[in-house]
Amino acid sequence: MTAVPPPGGRPAPGPRSSGTPAPGTPAPGTPAAAPDSPAGGGAAPRGHGRADGPGTGARPEPAWSGGDDPAFREMWRDLAPVGRAAASGGYRRYAWTAADGDCRAWFRAQAGARGLAYEEDRNGNQWAWLGDPAAGGAVVTGSHLDSVPDGGPFDGPLGVVSAFAALDALRSSGAPLTRPLGIVNFGDEEGARFGVACVGSRLTAGRLTREQAYGLRDADGVGLPEAMTTAGHDPEVIGPDPDRLARIDAFVELHVEQGRALDLTGDPVGIASAIWPHGRWRFDFRGEANHAGTTRLADRRDPMLTYAETVLAARREAELAGALATFGKVAVEPNGVNAIPSAVHGWLDSRAPDQATLDGVVAAVEQAAREYARRHGTTLDVVRESATGLVEFGHALRDEIGRILSGGTAGGGTDPGAAAGAPRWAGADGGGRAVPVLPTGAGHDAGILSGAVPTAMLFVRNPTGVSHSPAEHAREEDCLAGVRALAGVLRGLAQDGRDRHAGAPAG
Ligand SMILES: [Zn+2]
Repeated sequence: MTAVPPPGGRPAPGPRSSGTPAPGTPAPGTPAAAPDSPAGGGAAPRGHGRADGPGTGARPEPAWSGGDDPAFREMWRDLAPVGRAAASGGYRRYAWTAADGDCRAWFRAQAGARGLAYEEDRNGNQWAWLGDPAAGGAVVTGSHLDSVPDGGPFDGPLGVVSAFAALDALRSSGAPLTRPLGIVNFGDEEGARFGVACVGSRLTAGRLTREQAYGLRDADGVGLPEAMTTAGHDPEVIGPDPDRLARIDAFVELHVEQGRALDLTGDPVGIASAIWPHGRWRFDFRGEANHAGTTRLADRRDPMLTYAETVLAARREAELAGALATFGKVAVEPNGVNAIPSAVHGWLDSRAPDQATLDGVVAAVEQAAREYARRHGTTLDVVRESATGLVEFGHALRDEIGRILSGGTAGGGTDPGAAAGAPRWAGADGGGRAVPVLPTGAGHDAGILSGAVPTAMLFVRNPTGVSHSPAEHAREEDCLAGVRALAGVLRGLAQDGRDRHAGAPAG
């Protein structure tokens, strides 16, 4: 499997695999204030945005004066210590571990406290229901609670906590909900333990076969079925669950943004347009091991040189194409300080706005690598380890959400006190400003489900853009704006009389 630290195993890597933290981010290894900051009142650090960014500070924040949400605050407080590594301040909530079990217990308790019907499906995803899902036409929201190694507090949990908070707001507003409303925690979204992302939603959508799932192993050699059994879930029953998906009329996942687009536009909330196509490729460079002190430079066949030039080529090709390309993992053989390597394995992660661009970048990187290999007397094999095509969220549902948030179909005014109902999205000017629609390079359960269910995503501003790091951050007022937006969207979608086919997947 790929870079999979054993649960609770290796020491924490740095919060960022490369590069320098953005100005204003906590130093690596510094326990950030983040886990309790969304509900921690004054704990949320301000001014995290880059000083040179046009976003933060350039426009007034949207009005939010109704920030006192005790339930929201309490949910964060309960989750904050679960699976948190003291040394890094990051989270290690890997699938089917004790920390994951604690997150699951928390979800179940939240469902119980609200009198919601609770169920765990055949693939270990958790569901909480207001109304009877068997009635069909359900509106579902939620995200995931697991994490990458030393992940931040918001990636995943923000969507689940916001789901419960939005449901609370809807109920206290007395909004008429005539459709079943569901909250979901998808299992094993990050793939941190078994190397495949979105296992829970992939199994359910039939995008990962039972045989493939049974073949997954963690870094300690523990198979997924064994891990499930240990955690009390029966692996015999895993598999596609089309009947469950058929009950769902719309799935909306709220997620912290994993970039700075909203910070740059000055908006607390945005709507996803698409998930870029992306994939992983393993580049195997082979040469000849030899003595670092006695082998003339001219006589070497050094695969590290080929690898190094390939890394630079990836950067160059990505820049030329408007894409992303990253070598974030490397393995060297024999990995001796005084030995010319015999082999270097580098993993390329690349993402682009469209498939042709992605294919072009990867082909160009490979072509450059082959030329370098020829010059250095080394060899190259390229293995594609995974590939995910473009996900374009259905325009009908996306547009419907845009209308709801800008006050087109669900009124309610801009008074934050009315947030419990269906607030009109208010920009800094207090008017019905259009909500930005933006793509993302990050994969999500929503992307997996989008082939089977009308699906949409809301993003909450991340002032530094940092994610998959303990330094990941979102401001309290932005999180609450996200709850408000989600409540409005759920209310709009769960109203009777809505065209049930409005959200059909695009194309
Ligand atoms: Zn996530």
